[in-house]
Amino acid sequence: MKKKVKTVPDYQRPLMLRGVQISIISAVVVLTLLVSIWNAADLKRVLNRSTQQYLYDVATQTAREISETMQHKMEDLEVVADSVAKGLAGVSDEELAEFLARKADIMEFSPLLVIDRDGGMVSSGLHDDLEREEMQDILNLSVVKDAFEGKVGASYLEGQEIIYSVPVPSGGEIQEAAVGIREKEKMQAMIASKSFSGNSLSCIINIRGEVILSPTDLKPFMQLEDIFKNDSDSRVVNEIYGMKENLKSGRNGMLKFTSAAQEELYLSYNSLNINDWVLLTLIPADIISEGLDRYVLRSFLVLGFSAVAFLLLLMIVYRLFHDSRKKLERFAFIDEVTGGMNQAAFHMKYLELAPDMEPTAYCIVQLNVKKFKLINERYGIQEANGILRYIYQVLERNIDRKKNEFAARSQSDQFFLCLREASREGIQARLDKIFADIKAFEDTDVPHCELSFQQGACMIDDPSRDITILQDRARLAYQYGEMGTENLCMFYNDNIVEQMKKEQELNDLFEKSIANRDFQVYLQPKVGLESGRIEGAEALVRWNHPEKGFIFPSDFIPLFEKNGKICQLDLFMFEEVCALLKRWSAEGKNPVPVSVNLSRQHFQSSRCLEPFIETADKYGVAHEMIEFELTESIFFDYGQINRVKDVIRQMHEQRFRCSLDDFGSGFSSLGLLKEFDVDVLKLDRLFFLDMYSEKAKDVIACLIDLAKRLHVKTVAEGIEDSRQLEYLRSLHCDMVQGYVFSRPLPVQEYEGWIS
Ligand code: C2E
Ligand code: MG
Ligand code: MG
Repeated sequence: MKKKVKTVPDYQRPLMLRGVQISIISAVVVLTLLVSIWNAADLKRVLNRSTQQYLYDVATQTAREISETMQHKMEDLEVVADSVAKGLAGVSDEELAEFLARKADIMEFSPLLVIDRDGGMVSSGLHDDLEREEMQDILNLSVVKDAFEGKVGASYLEGQEIIYSVPVPSGGEIQEAAVGIREKEKMQAMIASKSFSGNSLSCIINIRGEVILSPTDLKPFMQLEDIFKNDSDSRVVNEIYGMKENLKSGRNGMLKFTSAAQEELYLSYNSLNINDWVLLTLIPADIISEGLDRYVLRSFLVLGFSAVAFLLLLMIVYRLFHDSRKKLERFAFIDEVTGGMNQAAFHMKYLELAPDMEPTAYCIVQLNVKKFKLINERYGIQEANGILRYIYQVLERNIDRKKNEFAARSQSDQFFLCLREASREGIQARLDKIFADIKAFEDTDVPHCELSFQQGACMIDDPSRDITILQDRARLAYQYGEMGTENLCMFYNDNIVEQMKKEQELNDLFEKSIANRDFQVYLQPKVGLESGRIEGAEALVRWNHPEKGFIFPSDFIPLFEKNGKICQLDLFMFEEVCALLKRWSAEGKNPVPVSVNLSRQHFQSSRCLEPFIETADKYGVAHEMIEFELTESIFFDYGQINRVKDVIRQMHEQRFRCSLDDFGSGFSSLGLLKEFDVDVLKLDRLFFLDMYSEKAKDVIACLIDLAKRLHVKTVAEGIEDSRQLEYLRSLHCDMVQGYVFSRPLPVQEYEGWIS
């Protein structure tokens, strides 16, 4: 079995293309969003790095400034000590106090003291400014003791006051030390944040983590452990450990952590190079990126809104697209007359179902309403459309959707069915049922007119075959069958194509054969039974083609009747007969009337006789010498009955004779004799094939008798033996035409035969 390939129908291709386009646009939008997110994240990363560097630089600078300020204080204190040692030796305590008060004022010490080893002291302020105990505490401070050893130093007191002390050397000995105390507020002002719009906090600690000076009493600066208390992050733990190590070795650094209050913070630590003191600076991590975060957030919001707007737009476009597609589908696939499937829908349905069809399980049937034009003319377009709609409804009722059957009207009076039927009998039975249903006119108010159908079918031997080809085959089948069986479904087979090719070939040869006179007149005599003489002859056409050989009328007459060439051929024969009659007259022979066959195709026009009259007159042939044979089938064409009557009237006016040919071969009706004014009745040979039963004899006798009463002459056709002849003679039949006397003969032989 062939592999079934699902094809994309042409009508779906633009839709698919649009789908692809929409997918691409969506992908581009999503990609743009992703790139924007990545971009913002990268921007944030870069900014964080530079923020960190900036913070570190600022903290280092602040540490340097604080360190320098403190160094300067100590140098200033040394200058004071120097002055005390050199210039003020021997002055009274009051004078010294006054000097110290002035210096303390300038240098912002509170107080400024000169202390001797025994605890004697001169202060810039009043003596009782410092209590005895406090005095003892100061004297006990290692930094003060160090000053008596000649060292310059700084230390701190409880309550965050900074104490500077320098030796006062006099005569190579150190008996006194100058001590300056900086107030808490002054020190706090020094380290108070100058940068980051007051957002940062600084404090001074020692490497053991004890706070020496903090700008406020803020909790985070009281103990480092407090800051990191809730942070179990191993990275931060490591960093703190590293920081402690760095502090011990006097190195600077920075770390990032999350505070107990869930705030991201940077902590910069910078050695002050005074004792083991370190400046800690704490800055919120988003101090710089805060603006950026807002910007990024805004960008994301804009992008998010754009994406939502785009999606909404896409949905609107999709809806519009979907709706208009539905409308288009209605236009494209629904037949406006029946409201059902049209040709395009039939094709689509087939494409959809064909991949699942088993070969030869289904068939395509074409049905054409015969002579629908007449229905149109008789009932008008509206009513006629109603009839088409009714037919489609009956078809729909008769198909089984579960078996994937479907029906459509393709155009005018043409319907197609796809039925799941594998045998000819099955198909015919289904069609018979359908026609019976149609003719029942149940549940409808359409006019109950006579409806008959041309039917052609084609088995779907290969479901991958194009549906158009299958429809063409069903059409070929009925077109071919039209010449043959009536009211039966014709089935496509390969012979039809062969036959059609042959017909095409004959069609192509026609014109040239007319020009070459390949068509020849054969004559068959009609013998009068009473006189025993030849009383007439029938001209019968023979096609003697130089290459194809001898071709009989049965092979080409039906074909030329179908395509209208028969009119040209009849006229050609008529002219040949006229020429012959003229020659016979000229040769002094006593010619008998010759009959020519006239196809029903001539009767499309009531002026069809004109060319015959012209031709007869051209040859100067007396019209009485010519008889037109009209086959009885001509009278069944209701549409042209009046025209036929009119032409027969014209024939008589012109003194031509007229016979009714092949009477008895079809649905003969005696009524025809009354209705049509013919001169001769030609009884078909079928009557005489089995004429020896009493009944057959009676029928023939009655017909001849009836004809006589109507003054119509009788000719018995196809008489082959003398027994038939004798009987016809006994019935007083007028003439006999048949092999018993002669076959149709070429003119020359006929002439020889007569003589
Ligand atoms: P038709 O007009 O009924 O012609 C009589 C047919 O019967 C002729 O067949 C003739 O050969 C045949 N025939 C005559 N006697 C006998 C007999 O004893 N036994 C048998 N078995 N047959 C006999 P043919 O010539 O083959 O023509 C067939 C039909 O073709 C004609 O039937 C006529 O309808 C048509 N035809 C022939 N020539 C022309 C023509 O020029 N124009 C038209 N329109 N039709 C023609
Ligand atoms: Mg005839
Ligand atoms: Mg005949």
